[in-house]
Amino acid sequence: MSQRSANRTRVIRALRERGPLSRRELADLGLSRSTVTVVVDELIGAGVVIEVEGPVRGAGRPAQLLSLNPRLGVAVGVEIANGVVRAAVCDVSRRLLSQGEIAVDERTDPKKTLVVVGELIERLLDGRPRESVLGVGVAIPGPIQRGTGRSGRATTLKPWVDVNPYAAAEALRLPLAVDNDANLAAVAEATWGVARGLRDVAYVYSAAGIGVGFILNGSLYAGANGTAGELGHTTIDENGEICECGGRGCLNTLANAFSITQNLRRSHGRELSIAEVITLAHDGDLGCRRVIADAGRHIGLAAANLYNLLDPELIVLGGNLAPAGEILLGPLRESMARRAIHAGEVLPPFIVGELDQDVVVVLGAAAVVLRDDERFPLPVRK
Ligand SMILES: [Zn+2]
Repeated sequence: MSQRSANRTRVIRALRERGPLSRRELADLGLSRSTVTVVVDELIGAGVVIEVEGPVRGAGRPAQLLSLNPRLGVAVGVEIANGVVRAAVCDVSRRLLSQGEIAVDERTDPKKTLVVVGELIERLLDGRPRESVLGVGVAIPGPIQRGTGRSGRATTLKPWVDVNPYAAAEALRLPLAVDNDANLAAVAEATWGVARGLRDVAYVYSAAGIGVGFILNGSLYAGANGTAGELGHTTIDENGEICECGGRGCLNTLANAFSITQNLRRSHGRELSIAEVITLAHDGDLGCRRVIADAGRHIGLAAANLYNLLDPELIVLGGNLAPAGEILLGPLRESMARRAIHAGEVLPPFIVGELDQDVVVVLGAAAVVLRDDERFPLPVRK
């Protein structure tokens, strides 16, 4: 590769990895100012890069930023969850173009589910040619085993146990990246939300179970087997109830949506959904507030262990418990502070993510495609 094309590739990769950047930020990649000028002029001339207005800082004019040309293509994000499939389409300038979802019976087998996914993608592409799709990111709940690419026993999506999602999703006939929902939600917050620009972040995602997506040293961390971040299966009570995983007293048995709603059967006389419990708690229902606070304390205990081991600069809460906000986070922070080591530093903030819970996972799935220039190259001469 000539020096010139190596520099072009570097600029394109930086724009894919970090989003729109100023000329000065591009120079910080280790390129001289004059090289940046030459490379950027070339890329603008070739229609690969466009100039856009950045946010206004202070009283000055908005900064001129360089962005990838949105016409270069789109990325699709897909989430296969219990009872629903969701999808979103983003262009390479990181703009969300369309999103949608279709309800699917949770017992549906992967093949049929992927037919529905294919139809949803077609609808959201809205006449755009398939060739414009750089790739599809697919989120499934639970870990993907590193070696085999299979979704393991721990997935809460029963028809997908021991299925290789890459093989199953071949039917979509598009380049694929598969990962679990918590990891992808973390990537979404790192791309558009509260974790933007941070290097060490833990994203606690609560769906059927509680998982964590780790961004460590600026990269997604999956672990040797792909099972990193199974916070829901860390032991909180050695003498507690048996968990689906076969363990005893896992966090999931004490603080996931199911265990929270189960606690209220006697007092409230019927099965409440987690969303109803949270709404009632905000309206002042004492029982609902109590079970959410208790769940917060248990998650805080697990989070203290997580902090003691990994020392993230931010912990983000997302998923179906996020709407509980401070009712959950207050007791959670207190419980975490009691157990976390204090080396004279302040504990990392534990906050609710910024992105809408309905789209955070599909956005992350699309972001994985948008950010990876090696696996999902742009249709440009380098
Ligand atoms: Zn467990």
